[in-house]
Amino acid sequence: MGRRFFVGGNWKMNGTKSEIGDIVAFLKTGPLDPNVEVVVGVPSIYLTYVTSIVPSNVSVSAQNAYKVPKGAFTGEISPAMLLDNGVPWVILGHSERRNVFGETDELIAEKVAHALEAGLKVIACIGEKLEEREAGKTEEVVYRQTKAIADKIKSWDNVVLAYEPVWAIGTGKTASPQQAQEVHDKLREWLSKNVKSDVAQTLRIIYGGSVTAANAKDLAKEKDIDGFLVGGASLKPEFVQIVNARA
Ligand code: PEP
Repeated sequence: MGRRFFVGGNWKMNGTKSEIGDIVAFLKTGPLDPNVEVVVGVPSIYLTYVTSIVPSNVSVSAQNAYKVPKGAFTGEISPAMLLDNGVPWVILGHSERRNVFGETDELIAEKVAHALEAGLKVIACIGEKLEEREAGKTEEVVYRQTKAIADKIKSWDNVVLAYEPVWAIGTGKTASPQQAQEVHDKLREWLSKNVKSDVAQTLRIIYGGSVTAANAKDLAKEKDIDGFLVGGASLKPEFVQIVNARA
């Protein structure tokens, strides 16, 4: 079976109930290609609200979760709490978590492992910074970030890997289809050598970084780009066109 196209919206720390109402309205109007899995990443305080109003062809994701089920970790939420509230997905390792909040490869890998063990599905993010790309270190960085996760998880079945070059996130600078395809292809090669050829073939690897309705179609033509993680444009009606980029 082929890899089902996957489009995630990462709302980040945006949205009021009124703005969320507008987003849900365009998701409902769609139409969203039924062949695409659509997930929206919602600020934690709105998770249950959004779960109660999104159409059934859209799933809800948290944007973070801690590495243990409960305890003295003020301000954190756990995978068990997300599942208890009917939230099936979590985004982990987003570059803003890594670079603004100082999350390490090790912590992210622990979070991914715990989330999967608890029963969540995970959008795991990796990607190099501009200076790393310019120093020719893109592969080294994304392999290191992927290895940290691979070393800690038992199965990739419930993982979507999001390649998000940091220099392309929220900057308006998109990786070209060729640049993104090249990294996705290398990641499959790495997975084949270091995890399993089966995982390399079946794992969905999505691209994130300034995806818009204008560039999504060309990116979606690349054979190893299995969808997108979309920040800014996921708050706008053009998100529907991004979902339908392969239609
Ligand atoms: C993101 O937040 O994961 C992202 C890719 O943001 P943007 O689309 O705004 O670059």
